[in-house]
Amino acid sequence: MRKQIAAANWKMNLTLQQGEELLDNILSKISSVEEGRQAVFAVPAPYLVMAQQKVAGKQNIFVAAQNCYSKKSGAYTGEISVEMLQSLGVTFVVLGHSERREYFNESNQLLADKINIALEYNITPIFCCGEPLAIREAGTQNDFVAQQLEESLYHLSAEQLQKIVIAYEPIWAIGTGKTASSAQAEEMHAFIRLQLQDKYGIDVAESITILYGGSVKAANAKELFGQPDVDGGLVGGASLIADEFVAIINALK
Ligand code: PEP
Repeated sequence: MRKQIAAANWKMNLTLQQGEELLDNILSKISSVEEGRQAVFAVPAPYLVMAQQKVAGKQNIFVAAQNCYSKKSGAYTGEISVEMLQSLGVTFVVLGHSERREYFNESNQLLADKINIALEYNITPIFCCGEPLAIREAGTQNDFVAQQLEESLYHLSAEQLQKIVIAYEPIWAIGTGKTASSAQAEEMHAFIRLQLQDKYGIDVAESITILYGGSVKAANAKELFGQPDVDGGLVGGASLIADEFVAIINALK
């Protein structure tokens, strides 16, 4: 079975002390995650070392960066390289979150470069895709997402693609409290998998973990994750509440 993942995205929230308290609280309730499932914490960059130390040695619990730069090193003040992440032991990076696409003008092409460099350093990209409300209302969400996949992923070999996690996050459902219905989520996840199948074949497509993101909470996680093509979630708001996120981890298939 595909790996099932509950990924927390803290975004630009919490002080160091609050982050430590939250992580301690969650880890006191879930000290390891059983094989086939993973819990991932995408914490703000200044907290990566702290989080990495706290999850060290814990089974199937990992830390993610929320971003990285597309260049190896050099005069890029303020940016974070994948080599730096690797040196901390960080194994995941969230790429292409809609907030970064919108506020920091990240294009599909730039994301292709970031994916390449992350893979070069053995860091698993959690590649986010998803349509804005206007596109959903126009009914063209499949074309929109297909183009994101094509422009950021389809240059990869099958072997490289299998190292990626995809997160489908309809923008109209992020931080809005408005969750896609489990049917809407499944429909898009199945569509994404079919696109991957057309390009890379059924075995590769069936092996890729596709997360759903957009107002996932304890109350809806079980139903969303119960869909055949939904392999867990990327969780913003609810990941800041220990009991909510613990319940979301426990809702994984
Ligand atoms: C996210 O930040 O990726 C997200 C899905 O946020 P929320 O769960 O708050 O909608």
